[in-house]
Amino acid sequence: MASLLFKKAELYYHVLCADRRKARLGITMDAEIGIIGGSGFYSLLDGSENVTVETDFGKPSDSLAVGMIGGRRVAFLPRHGRGHNIPPQKVPYRANIAALAGLGAKRIIATAAVGSLKEEYKPGEFVLFDQFVNMTYGRQDTYFDKNLVAHVGMAEPYCESMRKSASRIMDEMDIAYHGNGTALVINGPRFSSKAESRFFSSQGFETINMTQYPEVALAREKALCYLGIGIITDYDAGLEGRKEVKPVTVGEINRVFGQSIEKAKELITKLAKEVSVQRSDCRCAESLDGAVITH
Ligand SMILES: [Zn+2]
Repeated sequence: MASLLFKKAELYYHVLCADRRKARLGITMDAEIGIIGGSGFYSLLDGSENVTVETDFGKPSDSLAVGMIGGRRVAFLPRHGRGHNIPPQKVPYRANIAALAGLGAKRIIATAAVGSLKEEYKPGEFVLFDQFVNMTYGRQDTYFDKNLVAHVGMAEPYCESMRKSASRIMDEMDIAYHGNGTALVINGPRFSSKAESRFFSSQGFETINMTQYPEVALAREKALCYLGIGIITDYDAGLEGRKEVKPVTVGEINRVFGQSIEKAKELITKLAKEVSVQRSDCRCAESLDGAVITH
């Protein structure tokens, strides 16, 4: 019993004692909100400073830019590094989430380019993920892999409260979006074959990408709120019966993503202003309650 209490205390130390962890990591800056996305989002931050962090799980993708967005202190992390040099299967997901949590961020807003697996999810539209299906392999996808057994609930991996806020803001901005959708996550870096894409569509999944897993799952293991905003750029390997819809290319992803980035920036700025610090409107902070079974 004493051992279980110790393990639980240790767990809460990791999750809740941000100040002591920051001191240990040599971090002197705070952030309320973490933002993960492409390097196009650097321009969001007013007066940012770069913070280099080393976590218990190694170095994150790059230094973090800490500054203000919408009057809130925010830390931005480019998922693939500043020069987009880290492929999706090699992104240091554990270090990235640990670094943002270590700065004190309780909420994460993450953007990702995604392919559509359903005709009605059209390129140029946004999607707020509510579920994921993991088909990646070989990625380090948990913080609980030594001396402490914990089974963290993953039934609702995305913060519902942040999804509601994002929906309301996108309604006001008149952005075309889908309020929910499953993110099927493949390992990459290659795109799908037509047969794979047909199979994924037949399962009812709405979108496909390479980075939502384990990012969202690790955020849940840290009891953070995580909002995943997908920017639909293509129809993956094409659409059944629609020969004019060509398979995805990097050029097409960049073109459509580029057209959507200003809307995404405005959305993130409004969200940063709006989300509360207290998190009384969701249960993400309780994600680890009852999860530890080591005794
Ligand atoms: Zn939440």
